[in-house]
Amino acid sequence: MIPAVMPTYGRADVAFERGEGVWLYTSDGRRLLDFGAGIAVTALGHCHPHLVAALTEQAGRLWHCSNLYRIPAQEKLAQRLVDASFADSVFFCNSGAEAMECCIKMARKHFSAAGKPERWRIVACDGAFHGRTLATISAGGQAKMLAGFGPRVDGFDHVPYGDLSAMRAAITGETAAILVEPIQGEVGVRPAPEGYLEGLRALADELGLLLVFDEVQCGMGRTGRLFAHEWSGVTPDIMGLAKGLGGGFPMGACLATERAAAGMTAGSHGSTFGGNPLATAAGNAVLDVMLEPGFFKAVQANARLLWSRLENIQERHPAVLAEVRGRGLMIGLRCAVAVENKALVRSLLERGLLTVPADDNVVRIIPPLTIEKTHIEAACAILEEACTACRK
Ligand SMILES: *Cc1c(COP(=O)(O)O)cnc(C)c1O
Repeated sequence: MIPAVMPTYGRADVAFERGEGVWLYTSDGRRLLDFGAGIAVTALGHCHPHLVAALTEQAGRLWHCSNLYRIPAQEKLAQRLVDASFADSVFFCNSGAEAMECCIKMARKHFSAAGKPERWRIVACDGAFHGRTLATISAGGQAKMLAGFGPRVDGFDHVPYGDLSAMRAAITGETAAILVEPIQGEVGVRPAPEGYLEGLRALADELGLLLVFDEVQCGMGRTGRLFAHEWSGVTPDIMGLAKGLGGGFPMGACLATERAAAGMTAGSHGSTFGGNPLATAAGNAVLDVMLEPGFFKAVQANARLLWSRLENIQERHPAVLAEVRGRGLMIGLRCAVAVENKALVRSLLERGLLTVPADDNVVRIIPPLTIEKTHIEAACAILEEACTACRK
């Protein structure tokens, strides 16, 4: 018999009742270190006092108001994102897939509005993940997510990630945009090779294309700067955000330059819930914390400490861990061939540490950005123990 909750996920048999910072508590009193952060969502940990205060205050005043009216907190959040980025304008939605859907629609509309409707295709990368709607599974292009859902949404071409000449070769007179993740997440935490984003920017400029970054996972401070592309020195024309943006409240956003967003006029796109008062109260509270002076410096320092511990463990357990990769607090531990990533994730969970599996036999370490030295030491002690147990 089908369960009442549609069985689309493989779930571990554990449930949590309460969260506080980096910790999650089960109803029978167990305490686990959350280094998965709900897949890079709870960027400030669980029940951050500032977020709780902002949300409860807003909940007592006004939850929802449609986009038929002005929403001051939405205007404020948009302005803050604009001030902190390359963008001139922001569209709010409720998830990463919707953010990427807006990126795709905007790229197509840009050329249509510019009198070049024949330019509507987008070149994306193998191994990409952009969400689970029909358009975004087609943009991702992964067979396992497309299987059984009928014809793909047309308009997406794919090339190997990191290969600039393949990207150039795939661009035709029908191409509107290049779409990449500055760090691929689901495929196993693969950062863009040195010079890749710069090369894509140059290519887009040379051929008159839009450059779209999916920072749904790697953005919002995950790498130790507000946006992952900041490390490269180049900026996109359009960018999708979600995951950490609401600190656990579901929300997404599509940021764009004025030029890229030229086709997005009244009536061209919309969302009932997108950017409502409750969501934007959460988003503003997240930015209050992240934009405090010194926040990213602390994230970078903690990331350095975590990396040095993880690299040390990897060196001592090469039969279990083959590689540590990623950037900042978006880390992939690639397991050795003889070890199954999901088995290691299970073993870590049993020992009190939550992590997230990814493709390529990777265990993702994506903790709250607010972790401290003691959490790092505790998590690494558990990893060490699990690695030792793994070899027996
Ligand atoms: C998670 C993710 C998405 C999809 O986000 P949802 O909120 O699940 O729709 C899109 N792109 C990337 C890079 C992601 O990691």
